[in-house]
Amino acid sequence: MQLLNFLLGARIQTFFHIIFWLIVMIMDGKKGLIMGLANKFSIAYGIAESLRKQGAELVFTAQTDYFKEKISDIAKEFGGHEVILCDVSKDGEIENAFDKISNEVGPLDFIVHSIAFSDKNELTGKYYNTSRANFLNAMNISCYSFTEVCRNAQKLMPNGGSLITMTYYGSEKVVPNYNVMALAKAALETSVRYLADDLGEFGIRVNGVSSGPIKTLAASGVGEFSKILEFERNRSPLRRNVTREDVGDACSFLLSDLASGITGEIIHVDCGCSTIGVKF
Ligand code: NAD
Repeated sequence: MQLLNFLLGARIQTFFHIIFWLIVMIMDGKKGLIMGLANKFSIAYGIAESLRKQGAELVFTAQTDYFKEKISDIAKEFGGHEVILCDVSKDGEIENAFDKISNEVGPLDFIVHSIAFSDKNELTGKYYNTSRANFLNAMNISCYSFTEVCRNAQKLMPNGGSLITMTYYGSEKVVPNYNVMALAKAALETSVRYLADDLGEFGIRVNGVSSGPIKTLAASGVGEFSKILEFERNRSPLRRNVTREDVGDACSFLLSDLASGITGEIIHVDCGCSTIGVKF
């Protein structure tokens, strides 16, 4: 009898647990900005889809009119706000975009920075051939822009908030052809720790997500990218490549109150690849 009561109790608890998670969406009532959506293959799309499923309201920026046009239907579906132009390499564009968001959308709870750039011709061959111009441009767009986003985020987040940026394992170990982007990611990861400390007193958390390789517009610029995908699939403890959905769900968690004690971290979402040293 006691055992029956115990089993029934456990079942009822599980039942209510499931109902709770079906009803409660972890981003319900939260509003945020996605920077870096180019198309449905973007990592930002996986993040936006997950955040939307979890109840968030989204607003998007786009680098150019071309991308604005391409993503306007997604923006309508995911939040209903007009896409705001923001080329992060241009002085004042981040500040102007954030002023516009503040006026038209109001305060935000989170920001996703999913932006990187290098001249495609320098994402192949030897790293030492990187030009000074591309080194500076890659650092500016892929790393410095996140610092500027964080500085301007403060006025959009009067009640605290959470920011994430996207990085890759090439910052930690050598990955063929990743070249200058690896250095930009290493600097970006270090900036995450400094920014987390700068913004912590305002209740703003800053983290990085190190995604495994995913076929996207930007990734197609990296030489022999399909070989990188294959290598990671073979050494992954989960025996597969990571998906946009895997990355999106981890980002939703980090941006939600469930991660309220996590800041200054780089979380690997790579099916465990970065944990493997040697594999036979
Ligand atoms: P993507 O091409 O879909 O997205 C890159 C985005 O960067 C585009 O929307 C582009 O418009 C934006 N961008 C570039 N220059 C900009 C500028 N000057 N101003 C504003 N926006 C600009 O590719 P993705 O793979 O989804 O890349 C998103 C992020 O994820 C990048 O930081 C990338 O390094 C990172 N990442 C990608 C992978 C991968 O394998 N795809 C793995 C780990 C990390």
